[in-house]
Amino acid sequence: MIHPILKMGDARLLRVAEPVSVFDTPELHRLIGDMFETMHAAGGAGLAAPQIGVNLRLVIFGFEKVARYPDAPPVPPTVLINPVITLLNGAMEEGWEGCLSVPGLRGVVARHARLRYTGFDAKGAPIDRTVEGFHARVVQHECDHLDGILYPMRVRDFTRFGFTEVLFPELTGQPDD
Ligand code: ZN
Repeated sequence: MIHPILKMGDARLLRVAEPVSVFDTPELHRLIGDMFETMHAAGGAGLAAPQIGVNLRLVIFGFEKVARYPDAPPVPPTVLINPVITLLNGAMEEGWEGCLSVPGLRGVVARHARLRYTGFDAKGAPIDRTVEGFHARVVQHECDHLDGILYPMRVRDFTRFGFTEVLFPELTGQPDD
């Protein structure tokens, strides 16, 4: 089932989400299925449970090719529950981000270039990956949602924040924004 995606300004996006305590339940699998359906329908690269009003530490992400980010290398479809990010060094990297909760806009955000993330999949099996580049960016963006942080809160240079149709006219007309 496709859920409505909450938009910035909704107080539910500002909460600190609760850990998932029970894995491999029909409810959890249904929620994750709904999240993938919602993300694909919106043309997104990732989605956090709080974006559909579910206050749990659960994110999904991954794509082969996504219209919103035509130059991004593929990221495997991933369910990441109760994530923990470990930064591997101090190197930061700037890049453009958008968000399904902030439709129509893009901004440049500095993110850690390389990190390790751990957590659990839907069945409770551990996940442990070391990633870099766009994959690392997506993980940081999605995990921020679990702490009530939206990417515009991390924009430092507002000369590089604006409407997609103005900044990237070639991307205009995509279903997502
Ligand atoms: Zn987002």
